Amino acid sequence: MKMRLSRSIVGQAEADAVRRVILEDGYLGMGAETRRFEADLATWLGVEPEQLISVNSGTAALHLAVDAVAAQARAAGWPHAGPPEVLVPSLTFVASFQAITAAGCRPVACDVRADTATLDLADAARRLGPRTLAIMPVHYASNPWGLDEVHTFAAQHGLRVVEDAAHALGCQHRGRKIGSFGDLVCFSFDGIKNITSGEGGCVVAFDAHAAQLMADARLLSVQGDSQQRYTGGRSWEPQVTRQGWRYHLSNIMAAIGRVQLARLDSEFIPARRALAALYAERLAHLSGVALLHSDPADFIVPHILPVRILDGRKEAVRAALTAQGIPTGVHYRPNHLLRFFGDGQPSLPVTERLYTELLTLPLHPGLTPEDVDSVCSALAAAVAAG
Ligand SMILES: *Cc1c(COP(=O)(O)O)cnc(C)c1O
Repeated sequence: MKMRLSRSIVGQAEADAVRRVILEDGYLGMGAETRRFEADLATWLGVEPEQLISVNSGTAALHLAVDAVAAQARAAGWPHAGPPEVLVPSLTFVASFQAITAAGCRPVACDVRADTATLDLADAARRLGPRTLAIMPVHYASNPWGLDEVHTFAAQHGLRVVEDAAHALGCQHRGRKIGSFGDLVCFSFDGIKNITSGEGGCVVAFDAHAAQLMADARLLSVQGDSQQRYTGGRSWEPQVTRQGWRYHLSNIMAAIGRVQLARLDSEFIPARRALAALYAERLAHLSGVALLHSDPADFIVPHILPVRILDGRKEAVRAALTAQGIPTGVHYRPNHLLRFFGDGQPSLPVTERLYTELLTLPLHPGLTPEDVDSVCSALAAAVAAG
């Protein structure tokens, strides 16, 4: 079978769950199953169910989170004419940037550290301004590097923290699960993330008012409609006081998500970590290849496996791997190079250099140790050929 860069790991149990919603419950929209998925996730993270708001994508989670903090800032009398700004590393999926502009805010692209590919706080500090509202750390390749320091920095400067934790379900920062602490933490359950609900996501909010804003905003900001739907009802005399969206998660997707969450500790976490450990062992001393660094005090469940190909050899190495049927990826084309988000401004030297080096190798729980071996052998041959 052809090797895949990433893939959904789903089977009979997920199919049975969807079948049950369709044939036994007969109610496909947001309802009791969605409520149960939220409760399961909240229990797994160790938070209250009211703190966890499920939505239909990780992008929607980020959008609602930024929207909530912007709405709170406006309600508190935002004194500036221009839009609120959000500090965000340029090296992220375009969803992070689109979510910020969708919420009427301006993404301020920041550089990353060369060793971790995560936000460079010193660079973010240089980009602080009177309109800075929030900071959005991205746990790149599931690495929550320096998250405590981000929170300290945010507290010092009065910023909100919206975490893009799309890669980081299952990870821990210095002994605490990502999503069990912080301000607003956004997860994705798209097809290839650490768990999937088909498409989906959630926000964990440690601010009860923001949580309420998001719970309503995912259902067109019809006040209190979430509570109604959990019990099969609707708000027939709606009250609406602000913009909202159709971002809620359906029972069908929630049913898939619940099965996946139940497989996280027993299957997905050990499988991803074992494969990544094998890669690290095989590639640690390979010259011409550098692994990203992480804090030994953090627990990482890698969603992707990017490595740095040094000496300007990335394209040649990529072509050699492709020729052997080994798929590779690029995470990510930096957002500040995209026409909609800066078109090359400002210059972010580390991000731009990493972009020429980063190559993502296959990683998903369907790979075998032999697959990893063959990728590493092909990679070793390709860098040696230079
Ligand atoms: C997947 C992802 C998102 C968006 O999640 P979707 O569920 O695909 O909308 C956001 N940020 C990062 C870094 C991601 O990898």
